[in-house]
Amino acid sequence: MAKYDYDMGIIGGGAAGLTVASGAAQLGAKTLLVEKEASLGGDCLHFGCVPSKTLIRSAHVYHLMCNTQRFGLPKIDAPPVDFKQIAARIRQVIETIQHHDSEERFCGSGARVEFGIAEFVDEHSIALDGVRISAKNWLIATGSSPAVPPIPGLQEIDYLTNKEIFSLDSLPQALLVLGAGPIGIEMAQAFNRLGAEVTVVDRSDQILGKEDKDMAGALMSVMENEGIQFYLGAAVEEVEEKNNTKAVKIIDEAGESRTLAAQAILVAMGRLPNVEDLGLEKIGIAYDHRGITVDNRMRTNQKHIYAAGDVNGGLQFTHAAGYEGGIVVSNAIFHLPRKADYTYFPWCTYSDPELASIGMNEKTLQSKGIAYTVWDEDFGDNDRSLAEDQTVGKVKMLLDSSEKPLGVQILGPRAGDLISEWVATLNGKVKLATLAGAVHPYPTVGEINKKVAGNLFAPKIFSPKVQKGLKFFFQLKGRACSLRES
Ligand SMILES: Cc1cc2nc3c(=O)[nH]c(=O)nc-3n(C[C@H](O)[C@H](O)[C@H](O)COP(=O)(O)OP(=O)(O)OC[C@H]3O[C@@H](n4cnc5c(N)ncnc54)[C@H](O)[C@@H]3O)c2cc1C
Repeated sequence: MAKYDYDMGIIGGGAAGLTVASGAAQLGAKTLLVEKEASLGGDCLHFGCVPSKTLIRSAHVYHLMCNTQRFGLPKIDAPPVDFKQIAARIRQVIETIQHHDSEERFCGSGARVEFGIAEFVDEHSIALDGVRISAKNWLIATGSSPAVPPIPGLQEIDYLTNKEIFSLDSLPQALLVLGAGPIGIEMAQAFNRLGAEVTVVDRSDQILGKEDKDMAGALMSVMENEGIQFYLGAAVEEVEEKNNTKAVKIIDEAGESRTLAAQAILVAMGRLPNVEDLGLEKIGIAYDHRGITVDNRMRTNQKHIYAAGDVNGGLQFTHAAGYEGGIVVSNAIFHLPRKADYTYFPWCTYSDPELASIGMNEKTLQSKGIAYTVWDEDFGDNDRSLAEDQTVGKVKMLLDSSEKPLGVQILGPRAGDLISEWVATLNGKVKLATLAGAVHPYPTVGEINKKVAGNLFAPKIFSPKVQKGLKFFFQLKGRACSLRES
């Protein structure tokens, strides 16, 4: 009789858990996946990436409708949005994608799916609805939840988080967003474009605190021009509700106390790992407020128990959860000691313009004391951007002293797609000369990647030394025209 019921047990059916369930089962490992909600997919599908990007698309279209004259088109008096219709579209997109993450699909690939709350009872076993189930290896992939700081008065009012914001019955007339991270910024712009008056409050002195200030600042200017009000460097003191209006008292950057009023408040002040009720103390798994401690093979201090995705407190993205899931499959199923490497790991905030990043930015380089040079290229000089009226932003490439790329950031149209070329270049160790010499279709915003790489070589190719050499070898006669001096 087998020592354990399963080879691989997985707690949590989100991006990380599903990656491991599918990989392990297809490789022939006897696999169990336990999910506490009624359906698989996790936060990304139900309360994160999918609903937010669907909402952003609706907001983008409405924004275009309200700005037709910028494109030489007749003015449209667009009627107000009916948020119920938008919420219905969000539900429909989720339902469509849900089929990919269905219990049947995972069962088809060989994994058993159980619904319920799992709790460790010993180092190899969980209790699920009173039944003890054992596995040789376990993955904890329980994700994260919105962090709600202990602001006086907040618990006494109805506030929104990412769990409620996509299924509202109506568009709030005014929305106060607490937190200027990626979630706060994406939602602030989308709701403002849909017609809500939006105010954003954050204690940091810039939006998107991880990003370089020049890039985040340029995005903030766009959002301010669209009508969003920002209070940065501000502390939230207390919240109260009177006559259906929520009032938030803040101390602003100048130390002044002011009260902001809104119909709804979105709390987007960070995330907390879902480590409660798993019985982690019982089996001695180490964790702190950021998440479960793992090594670069995603192993906890109990080497046969892995933790991947948001719950380990690393990079909180769906593609990070998927990547870490792959690391778990390599280590636990293939027994290959594969380590995670985040050196050139990309991410994107889906604002308009989008802000995407890979590798180190100026902030990180300065904090590490690494010398670098900056090479940038504006979207204002890109023909396609001009044609499409999307000229805000730039590509910023950072190089070390031997001209090796350290990181690239893109603020601009489709930056999340444009960063892919850098994903291939940096991870594939492709030479910048190859990117600079590559042919891109014209006119595409993608040409900007070639151009920023090309900027590095232009001064060398067109240098006086090269011109002198060509003059000598080919008897070139030099300039045929110069601008007349006035
Ligand atoms: C508004 C918003 C927008 C986002 N947009 C993006 C984006 O555009 N791109 C991007 O890359 N990332 C985005 N993210 C982040 C992304 O959603 C997460 O990084 C990703 O979902 C993490 O995957 P995970 O597998 O770690 O956790 P999850 O997907 O949250 O899955 C965890 C699962 O574990 C289950 N679970 C929890 N506890 C238990 C238990 N005790 N027993 C059994 N099951 C349990 C949960 O019900 C859940 O299904 C966004 C997040 C939010 C909130």
